[in-house]
Amino acid sequence: MHEEREGYLANLDKQHFLHPTSSVKQQQENGPAIIFEEGMGIYLKDIHGKEYIEGMSSLWNVAIGYGRKELAKVAEKQMKKLSFSSAFSTFSHEPAILLAEKIARLAPGKLNTVFFTSGGSEANESAFKLVRYYWLLRGEKKRKKIIARKKAYHGVAAGATSATGIDEFHQMTNSLAPDFYHIEFDSVAALKTEIEKEGPETIAAFIAEPVIGAGGMLIPDRDYLKGVRKVCDEYGILFIADEVITGFGRTGKMFAVEHWNVEPDLLVFAKGVTSGYFPLGGVVISEQIHHLLKEKSQGTLFHGFTYSGHPVGCSIALKNLEIIEGEHLVENSAQMGIELLNGLSEMERQLGCIGDIRALGLLAGFELYENLLAKKRFTEKTAPKIVAECAKLGLICRSVTYNDSDTIVLAPPLIITKEEIAKIISILTNAIKNVVVKK
Ligand code: PLP
Repeated sequence: MHEEREGYLANLDKQHFLHPTSSVKQQQENGPAIIFEEGMGIYLKDIHGKEYIEGMSSLWNVAIGYGRKELAKVAEKQMKKLSFSSAFSTFSHEPAILLAEKIARLAPGKLNTVFFTSGGSEANESAFKLVRYYWLLRGEKKRKKIIARKKAYHGVAAGATSATGIDEFHQMTNSLAPDFYHIEFDSVAALKTEIEKEGPETIAAFIAEPVIGAGGMLIPDRDYLKGVRKVCDEYGILFIADEVITGFGRTGKMFAVEHWNVEPDLLVFAKGVTSGYFPLGGVVISEQIHHLLKEKSQGTLFHGFTYSGHPVGCSIALKNLEIIEGEHLVENSAQMGIELLNGLSEMERQLGCIGDIRALGLLAGFELYENLLAKKRFTEKTAPKIVAECAKLGLICRSVTYNDSDTIVLAPPLIITKEEIAKIISILTNAIKNVVVKK
C-alpha cells in the first residue's frame, strides 16, 4: 500500500518537481530520497511510518520542534481575521507592528527598526539595497561595493548568490551581480587590505555570518568579529551580520554576535523567527541608519515584497518567539550544546577518525579523517556516505564537501533533551563505524 503510493508520488516528483539545491541526476535515477509525512517534537516520519531525528531542524530552521498546535491555532485565527493585507503605502496591521517592536527589543543595542521579507535571501538583498540607499542619501554615490567572506553562504537571489563565497553556487550561472568582493574568511587584515585596494570611498558594507553555517560550521577566532567591526568603523563602512542561521537562540545566545559583544549596523534574520512554520525573514537596521532615512528619504522607498510583513507570518513569529522565551530555549540551546560537544568529543576519542570539532550552542560540525593524527583525509569524501547511513539508522544530518571539507554538521531543534542528544551520538557513532571503521 505504502509502496504503491510512494511509487506513484516518486514518479510525479521526477516529472514535475525541480528540487532546490538537489542533484537532478540523483532524483531522476532514484526518485526523491525520502518522502516525509509528519513531524512531532524533534522527529519526522516518512511515508512508511519510519521515524527520524531531524538533526538539522530541516535546514537549521525548526527551533521549537514540529507539530506545535499553538502555532497552528494562531495561524488559523489570523487567517480567519485578516488573512492578508499589504504593508505598502504605509498600510499597516497589528501583527507586523508588534513583531517589529518585539524583534527590535530582542536585537542588540541600537538595532531598532525592521524591514520584513519572505526569507533569508530577500533579507540579504534588502540589506544590500538599503546600505546603498543610505550612502546615496548621504551623497556618497561611489559607495556601492559589498565585501563578503569566502566560504560564506548568503542565499541564492542575485545579490545574495554574488555575496556567497562558495564557488559551486557561482558555477551554475554565468552572470553574477557586480560590485561583490570576497576576502579570506578568517582574516581581519584581509578586510583592511581589500578596502585599501578598492578604495574606502567605494565600499558600502561588509557582510559576515557570525558563524559560517552552510559553508561548514566555522566559528571565528575570539577577536575576529571585534576586529572587523573596528576596521569597518575606521573606514566608516557599514557592517551587516547575517544571522539567518544563528539568530533566535541557535548558538546559545539570542543572536550570535552577542558571544563577541559586537553590534552590527544591520542584522539579517529568517528561519528561526517562525521556526519554519511560515516563510519570513527581514533585516533590522540601526537607529543611525533609520535616522538618516527619516531625515533624507524623499518620496517612495522603492523596495518592498508583496509579503513584506505578512500578517499570518508575523502572528506565527510572535507566538514562536513567545515559546522560545517562555520555554527558555536559548538557555536550553547553550546547555544541550555542551552535551552535544561532550558527545562528539567522546566519539573523537573512541573512533579516531573524526576531529576538528566545532560547536556553539546547538550548531556543531566536525571533520572526517582517514588518519586523524596525520590529518590525512579519505581519498573519497566520506561525509555523504555517513549522512546516508545515518538516514538509514534514523537520523537526518548534513554533509559539507565544498570549501575543501569533508564535514558533518548538526543543528537539532532547540527543544532537544539530554536523552535525545545521546540518541544522536549513538546513531552517529554506529553510522561512522558501519561506513568507516568496518571498511
Ligand atoms: N543566509 C544564511 C546564513 C543562510 O544560511 C541562508 C539559508 O540557508 C540564507 C541566507 C538564505 O536564506 P533563504 O534560503 O531563506 O533565502
